[in-house]
Amino acid sequence: MTTDSSLAPWLHAAHATLAALRARGAHAALLHGPAGIGKWELAMAFARDALCETPDAHGRACGTCPSCRLGAAGNHPDLRVVVPDALAFRRPVPAEAQDDEVTGRDGGEGAEGERGAGAKASREIKIEAVRSLAAFTGISTHRGGLRVVVLGPAEALNAAAANALLKGLEEPPPQSLFLLVSDHLDWCLPTIVSRCALVRVAVPPRQAALNWLLAQGIPDAAQRLTEAGGAPLAAAREEGDGLDADAAETLRGLLRLGPALQAAQIAAQVPRTIPVAASIALFQRWTWDFLSVRLGGHLRYHSEEAARFAALAQAWRPDAAVSWLDRLRDARAVADHPLNARAVVEGLLLAYRNSMAEGRADA
Ligand SMILES: [Zn+2]
Repeated sequence: MTTDSSLAPWLHAAHATLAALRARGAHAALLHGPAGIGKWELAMAFARDALCETPDAHGRACGTCPSCRLGAAGNHPDLRVVVPDALAFRRPVPAEAQDDEVTGRDGGEGAEGERGAGAKASREIKIEAVRSLAAFTGISTHRGGLRVVVLGPAEALNAAAANALLKGLEEPPPQSLFLLVSDHLDWCLPTIVSRCALVRVAVPPRQAALNWLLAQGIPDAAQRLTEAGGAPLAAAREEGDGLDADAAETLRGLLRLGPALQAAQIAAQVPRTIPVAASIALFQRWTWDFLSVRLGGHLRYHSEEAARFAALAQAWRPDAAVSWLDRLRDARAVADHPLNARAVVEGLLLAYRNSMAEGRADA
């Protein structure tokens, strides 16, 4: 359940700005600022708040009304999330699709299924994605309230997609709210920018960021915050140790497949040169989050993937996950001098897949 109603403290001011804009009838806002400080999380939280049928005194979502429950299940009919395929994990996962995703049957989210072995997902937002919004905004809302589009990064809109979006921003359908997010405002098309109310989100004061990281239980918080240039969400995700963002995302993409993960995909996608210790650290964070959720806690490192972890719980038994953690710890003990780094990482991924095949929750 994505009932993460807590908003990091440095986002409250921007949230209030969005609420004030909304109260004045603004239909499009563009959240901008450095990467990794929570702009996307803020946009999604504000979307949930705006769709809530019984918000609290501060305008925050109640978490229990029909709209909030639809949002938590990943299938609110009045919310559209537009991201490049490379960021497909940010799309809500409809509850009824979760089983399909985990078991690899047809009917999962197209993007990852079509990626296949080795294929690179697009980093652009293409015109098809924006065109499909016309159908969404052209009909009356399902729940009689707003309809909300969350789109980002806005700089990922290719020219055709940006032009298509422009029409929606120029002649906004009634009861619509567009929330755009950008890490690079100067890379966005000026005509898009000029039609949005700009809301700047600043890098939080270091102490506030540090307090937040410590409250999340992030180890080495001060060091990681420094390495991430003061961006707390980036620090929480920081891979460090030479694992670049593409390689980290590739590994997470493989983990997301769960029991549907194939040996051929592992062989095709694990990069030729891969730092073992950092890969193991990523695997460990994945598993800690899984166990945290299973024990009723919250996601520390993958807060955008609540639905994914809920689905994973259908296939992975906690004791199997703990066994994999043991194996990761053993591998990490010798990770400084592996004979074949790639073979080590591939072997661990195979063990991950096998730990699900053997330990299915419903077996
Ligand atoms: Zn609600």
